[in-house]
Amino acid sequence: MQSKQTVVVIGNGMVGQKLLDVLVEDGATDRWDVVAFGEERHLAYDRVNLSAYVAGASAAELNLAAPEVVGHPAVRMVVGDRVVAIDRDARTVTAESGQVVCYDALVLATGSTPFVPPVAGGDGPGCFVYRTLDDLDAIIAHAPDCGTGVVIGGGLLGLEAANALRQLGLETHVVEFAPRLMPVQVDDAGGSVLRSAIEAIGIGVHTAKVTTEVRRDGDRVTGLAFADGTDLVADLVVYSAGIRPRDDLARSCGLEVGERGGVVVDDACRTADPRVYAVGECASHQGRVYGLVAPGYSMARVVADRLTGGDATFTGADLSTKLKLLGVDVASFGDAHATTPGARILTWHDACPSDPSVATYKKLVVSGDGLRLLGGMLVGDASDYASLHQLHASGATLPAHPELLVLPSLAGASSPLPGAGAMDDGATVCTCNNVTKGAICAAITDCALTTVGEVRDATRAGSTCGSCTPLISGILDDELTRAGVAVDRSLCEHFPHTRQELFDIVRVRRVRTFAELVAGWGTGRGCAVCKPAVASMLATLWNEHVLDRDHASLQDTNDRFLANLQRDGTYSVVPRVPGGEITPERLIVLGEVARDYDLYTKVTGGQRIDLFGARLDQLPSIWRRLVDAGFESGHAYGKSLRTVKSCVGRSWCRYGVQDSTSLAIALEERYRGLRSPHKLKLAVSGCSRECAEAQGKDVGVIATEAGWNLYVGGNGGMKPQHAVLLATDLDTATLVRYIDRFLMFYVRTADRLERTATWLNKLDGGLEHLRRVVVDDSLGLAAELEAAMDHHVDTYRCEWAATLDDPAKLAMFTPFVNEPEAVEVDLAYVRERGQRRPASAEERAASEVAVTVTAGVGGR
Ligand SMILES: Cc1cc2nc3c(=O)[nH]c(=O)nc-3n(C[C@H](O)[C@H](O)[C@H](O)COP(=O)(O)OP(=O)(O)OC[C@H]3O[C@@H](n4cnc5c(N)ncnc54)[C@H](O)[C@@H]3O)c2cc1C
Ligand code: SF4
Repeated sequence: MQSKQTVVVIGNGMVGQKLLDVLVEDGATDRWDVVAFGEERHLAYDRVNLSAYVAGASAAELNLAAPEVVGHPAVRMVVGDRVVAIDRDARTVTAESGQVVCYDALVLATGSTPFVPPVAGGDGPGCFVYRTLDDLDAIIAHAPDCGTGVVIGGGLLGLEAANALRQLGLETHVVEFAPRLMPVQVDDAGGSVLRSAIEAIGIGVHTAKVTTEVRRDGDRVTGLAFADGTDLVADLVVYSAGIRPRDDLARSCGLEVGERGGVVVDDACRTADPRVYAVGECASHQGRVYGLVAPGYSMARVVADRLTGGDATFTGADLSTKLKLLGVDVASFGDAHATTPGARILTWHDACPSDPSVATYKKLVVSGDGLRLLGGMLVGDASDYASLHQLHASGATLPAHPELLVLPSLAGASSPLPGAGAMDDGATVCTCNNVTKGAICAAITDCALTTVGEVRDATRAGSTCGSCTPLISGILDDELTRAGVAVDRSLCEHFPHTRQELFDIVRVRRVRTFAELVAGWGTGRGCAVCKPAVASMLATLWNEHVLDRDHASLQDTNDRFLANLQRDGTYSVVPRVPGGEITPERLIVLGEVARDYDLYTKVTGGQRIDLFGARLDQLPSIWRRLVDAGFESGHAYGKSLRTVKSCVGRSWCRYGVQDSTSLAIALEERYRGLRSPHKLKLAVSGCSRECAEAQGKDVGVIATEAGWNLYVGGNGGMKPQHAVLLATDLDTATLVRYIDRFLMFYVRTADRLERTATWLNKLDGGLEHLRRVVVDDSLGLAAELEAAMDHHVDTYRCEWAATLDDPAKLAMFTPFVNEPEAVEVDLAYVRERGQRRPASAEERAASEVAVTVTAGVGGR
């Protein structure tokens, strides 16, 4: 048997990690041991979504290094250690720590560094680049002492960095050398639409400016001077003026580098040394260095294939881009600047003098005979990007009047764009992960997939930048329909209706119980899917206690016992702390309850206090003490409103422009107990510094000088997503009305367990449609939605208070009646940092248990 060889990968960035993923996935680790060096403190993370870190995402949430890959027995990760030398004769690499590793194959995946233009005074304190988590930490640490931040560079990354500065609460400006923003992606007309939209949200734009000096007063940055004699005040500078490939290692070991930098590689991504490859932003292929992730991923796949004896090649890459910056859609693909001889240009420019932020510019470049789409750019509205990009990539013949492709569709008219069904199997749907339509169709058929999420998990299509998700959805619908599989959107086998249809039935026919609904519109006795879903609808609409009538039997465990079941079979207790504000007296009560029942106590991420380890039979006595002290149910157990997070706002903070705490409390009290398809979180920040992380919430409110900005559709969880701006500068009454409408519209039309972010992503017409419904009342529903919310508010009653008043409900918490076996439960704990927590299996086995509690004994 052939002995294993070693491949060393230098650089654990996005592309280096992709290489490790593919090597493990394809079983190359049977032949190769892999040693991967990463110089950063973190394992590979999602640099494309780096800006989410400024908005509150954690480093862990951006992590790309799956445990099954970095923990694989054939993979050794070396983190926080830079490779400083390569000896090609001895076939070794040497790291800063001194360790030397031998290789049979070597892959350079060292990425690039931001280019810092040589400007007088430009390299001291207060000047930053925007590339790594550490760079962002440095900017975040410096920003509180600054009033104005300036980004040098108005390209794609520069605008992203500007957004970050804005989120940090700085007055923000962008300085661009070229006469327009994003000069590579858009033309003058597109650039001017982009500029207006960006200026409309308060970012200063300065084009055709050559920075000659960063002015300083000692260690402090004070401003920028430009070649035309003008200047700009600045306290903090971020460079985003392009990138330079990190090819220093290659140079020092004698490998060829390109004229404009980058390790020269051939179509096999191999350097002139057959044992050394280069991939990603450090590689130069045919004189070109790619600054996008998709080409890097393709290179990683080529190298993985070559290492296992394959003959895959990299022959160049598509440079299409789609991004949403500061709420402005920008996309460009193909020959967007019409350099093809004889090309014809079709444009649509919809300017809106009263609101420049909603202007759109669409440009299509078609071949001289009008038959092929050569490229295009979209600014302001890029909703057709995925379809247009495919039309371009497939080379399909254009319809008779290609100009219709840029005109907004008339009401009722069908889109002139060919649907997913018209695409060839070989067409690439996901350019980031190189997934073809054929691969998606095969996965749908072979694995009986029925949802976009399942397709994403099975094929990775749509898992990086996400711009192809609408196409994937189209292909899925098409495939299911073609295969004769009715796209069944029924809630479950007991109801031949969607959740929304059932919601409407319950509402219009005033159905009050599950039994009534099954008798009239369903069959059987219900299941774990429909019972809690119907329970949630009944609770939303009629706001009866969840344990009233036959409602109790519909609830899953958490709702049934009004507490969260934990891994050791005990429950946690989370009282509501509106807006996170709590009096010392109430804090003392919580402390006393926790001490008396020996409950593990933790402050949650949502500004509440979680008490763990209560037995079922203890819940009523614990809650009696809490309710007597003025606490209410926090609904932590329900698919319902959880928290409204807030900062201290104007009351205490020197930056606050509105009273965010009072608003958060008012909103929490208004929407408390509202049942919904998924849990709901809100937040209110007192200024654009955004300490409450409102843009990561289902509803986020950020104070402005003039009122409140309303963001919707954000969420954390497994797939974090930013909220989007729905309306600006609202007075409080209008804000509350809009939130009423938004929440009720969502609650009525979303699917079971669909978060607001997913619901909004799927909503026909997207944000614009939502804006029309909520702000313009285009469906004439506003009054009804508001009345429904008023009903909810008027009929709210704390579920725990009501339970304590009702002996029949309290009987459910007696384990001896319903669950005699519960007496046998033997709970074992260990003490850690002064509190008890459940013992692990090993601790039980090793008799390290410090506390043993038997149900029925203890702190009643
Ligand atoms: C803010 C931001 C937004 C972006 N947005 C997009 C986007 O929307 N779409 C898109 O396609 N691309 C985007 N990009 C570009 C994308 O992130 C890069 O194309 C991609 O990360 C390149 O991957 P890489 O592995 O080649 O380089 P990197 O991800 O930079 O990884 C290289 C790694 O190697 C390490 N390293 C270097 N030298 C050594 C050494 N000697 N020893 C050990 N380790 C070393 C570096 O520290 C780094 O961690 C964005 C980039 C940024 C910064
Ligand atoms: S007002 Fe709130 S969001 Fe603004 S800086 Fe102060 S604490 Fe942060």
